[in-house]
Amino acid sequence: MTATLSALSFDNRYTRELPGDANESSQSRQVPRVAWSPAAPAATASPRLVSVAAEVAELLGLTEEQIASDEFRDMATGNLVLPGMRPFAMRYGGHQFGNWAGQLGDGRAINLGEMVTPDGSRQTLQLKGAGRTPYSRSADGLAVLRSSIREYLCSEAMFHLGVPTTRALSLALTGDQVMRDMLYDGHPELEPGAIVCRVAPTFIRFGNFELFAAMGELDELGTLADFTIREYFPELWPGDGAPTPDTYVAFFKEVVHRTADMLVEWQRVGFVHGVMNTDNLSILGLTIDYGPYGWLEDYDPDWTPNTTDRNGKRYRFGNQPGIGQWNLAQLGNALYPLIEDAEPLQTAIDGYVTRFRAGYQRMFAGKLGLVEWDTERDEPLMVDLLALLTDAETDMTLFFRGLAEVPIDGSADDRFEPLRNSFYVPDQVTAVVRDAWDEWLARYAERVQADGTSDAERKAAMNAVNPIYVMRNYLAQLAIDQATDGDFTGVNELLDVMRNPYTEQPGREQYAEKRPDWARTRVGCSMLSCSS
Ligand code: AMP
Ligand code: MG
Repeated sequence: MTATLSALSFDNRYTRELPGDANESSQSRQVPRVAWSPAAPAATASPRLVSVAAEVAELLGLTEEQIASDEFRDMATGNLVLPGMRPFAMRYGGHQFGNWAGQLGDGRAINLGEMVTPDGSRQTLQLKGAGRTPYSRSADGLAVLRSSIREYLCSEAMFHLGVPTTRALSLALTGDQVMRDMLYDGHPELEPGAIVCRVAPTFIRFGNFELFAAMGELDELGTLADFTIREYFPELWPGDGAPTPDTYVAFFKEVVHRTADMLVEWQRVGFVHGVMNTDNLSILGLTIDYGPYGWLEDYDPDWTPNTTDRNGKRYRFGNQPGIGQWNLAQLGNALYPLIEDAEPLQTAIDGYVTRFRAGYQRMFAGKLGLVEWDTERDEPLMVDLLALLTDAETDMTLFFRGLAEVPIDGSADDRFEPLRNSFYVPDQVTAVVRDAWDEWLARYAERVQADGTSDAERKAAMNAVNPIYVMRNYLAQLAIDQATDGDFTGVNELLDVMRNPYTEQPGREQYAEKRPDWARTRVGCSMLSCSS
């Protein structure tokens, strides 16, 4: 076993095969006709590693000795570029809140290189908050501790929940202070700077394609599409190495499917991304860019955690599936020059609804503990349930765990009992609301009886898809408060709880509790801004 990192192997396909910027400076600029610009991570004052996700280290084949080394700390904070790495910032554009925003690019993320892991798979390492790049515009390229903790914990929580996502290898303090106006209200303050090392096969986004298309850089668009298909969708790459319009249509269809599948998973666990701009949608269908995201606590399809989105609520929970399709339409437009036929693209976009609906129904059947979805019977059962969940403020996560405990052959009181704990305000459960629940539970019982599933079987099946632990907004905030005082035990404990989100962990009941009242309106718990 060696502690040194110099033996790690890198093979940087993105920078090798796609056109890059000849200018090495980090000065903000428009960079036509390139897929990337060189970017050097900034040295930091006194780097300190505060958490490493062991599973991600293992995925990369990193040993404990390597992780414990000063070299690793320096690499994970941009203070050491290993031989074979080729640090770069991607150039991409995007639609932000529905409007075309032109060139954006990695303004506070620097890709270090593409690592070839011992099992031969490849993972790109990327530092978020490692300093300025040509795409930083007027901003500093840095990230603060609170948002870095949120990204670090949530990436890993999502992975353990079974949701497609980018990963996070490490969380580190830079030792530098960063000025931030948290709510954009004219109160800037110094905050501790931090860096998360993110990991994904690639960080290519819808916006990478969109920018080439918008600028009329069609040769580059074709080169990027060919690269992406060949390297990340090899099953679609034609044997003769000569892609046709059909190849690009098949690629688009696959992205449509993956995006629909990802949205189903978000809706299953109650995740609200908060900034579903097209520059924040991964071409691989991974959840990417954890910023002002939030988790549904009381079930409310109109909720958005992002204060920047407060007016239009474009990215509210219930709107996410539709936005997924809207974003795909922008990607479809970008790919059009390679296909020059709108019809197959339109068919693929329409296919999103079919794919999403089928996935959503399967998912919801699972949440309810039904063997199979039967639209005629189950659609009204679901619609009525979702309405009931908003009648009295109901914790989504606790509700579905409670539903798994409902005795099908019990009395109305017996059936209602396991749900009691999921209501935020007991007084809201009026006689009328309670009657509605009794009626719904009776229909549910009848439906389960038709399946013939035992209570025990149903509970086991439901608890495998309805998590008990999710990254509740206030839990992350408590860990942040503690970390800001220099204590990272809360961060590491939360990471550990989220490793097994479907299994009750004795002694950790406090992580499965409803949001306390103080968190209802506190910044960071219910309100977040893009500023990080
Ligand atoms: P987001 O919506 O947070 O994913 O970011 C949108 C765009 O703004 C991306 O191009 C980011 O790289 C850029 N950006 C956000 N924050 C910063 C920052 N602190 N410094 C430089 N660029 C940033
Ligand atoms: Mg982004």
